[in-house]
Amino acid sequence: MLRIAIQAKGRLNEESVELLSDAGISIESSKRKLLARSEDFPVEILYLRDDDIPQAVSMGVADVGIVGYNEVAEKEFDVEIAHKLGFGKCRISLAIPKAEEYTGVAYFNGKRVATSYPVVLSRFFKEQKIEAEIHEIAGSVEIAPSVGMADAIFDIVSSGGTLVTNGLKEVEKVLFSEAVLIRHKGLAEEKQQILSQLMFRIEAVERSRGLKYMLLNLPDEKLPEAIAILPGMKSPTVLPLAQKGWSSMHVVVNEREMWSKIEQLKAIGAEDILVLSLEKMIL
Ligand code: ATP
Ligand code: MG
Repeated sequence: MLRIAIQAKGRLNEESVELLSDAGISIESSKRKLLARSEDFPVEILYLRDDDIPQAVSMGVADVGIVGYNEVAEKEFDVEIAHKLGFGKCRISLAIPKAEEYTGVAYFNGKRVATSYPVVLSRFFKEQKIEAEIHEIAGSVEIAPSVGMADAIFDIVSSGGTLVTNGLKEVEKVLFSEAVLIRHKGLAEEKQQILSQLMFRIEAVERSRGLKYMLLNLPDEKLPEAIAILPGMKSPTVLPLAQKGWSSMHVVVNEREMWSKIEQLKAIGAEDILVLSLEKMIL
């Protein structure tokens, strides 16, 4: 049995649940408790506050966890980063009131900076040889300058909308973050094996993201041109149609290129183009 800690509610919850469910690990929502057992795979899901996940994994209360890299960097617990998951992307940045002139990182000497990430910030200031006062606050960091609690903030930014709303501007991007899968150091052999199976599934899910399966019919003499347009994984599958002189071609394409490929294929005489979603890709 492998115990996986995920965020109980918040920005990472939905995508964590979705990733596990795409990997064949589902929990009926009616059965959702603090700790829930999956019906189809030997894992248990432990729902926690994101702040508590690095510690739970370092202690072995959970074997693995899905959490923002920002929390791992701040908490400094001894865990291993097993995999980057590509969602929950954000950065932790220094921001100052919009009207201030920013002259470089030396600006922060003697300033008061409010943050929920004092460890990451003091590490940065130390590296940059900045002497500043760090005020740790738990929430609503972005209002600290306007109420006079601080001169600047160090907080999570994704689109930057919250900063603009609060009359602030981002001046230093210090730490880039995304959701990561962390693991306890020294997992027992049995858990290690379940984790390898889980990783195999996660990689298959990731590989199929943004990919589509495309089928189309075209005259045989156009096959070389179509193959040049659609190189496929190894080479595209080509099957003869009942109608003489025509073939059906099957290929995996990237969603980003899909429309331009369709236009090129239509231009050379392809017909009956079907695009299907691709669920898993096992190599
Ligand atoms: P919890 O109740 O679990 O402690 P929280 O309020 O601390 O939740 P959320 O706001 O749900 O945390 O954010 C969880 C994680 O989502 C962050 O630690 C970060 O890794 C990521 N994230 C991505 N974009 C943003 C954003 N714009 N603001 C805040 N967090 C973001
Ligand atoms: Mg939190």
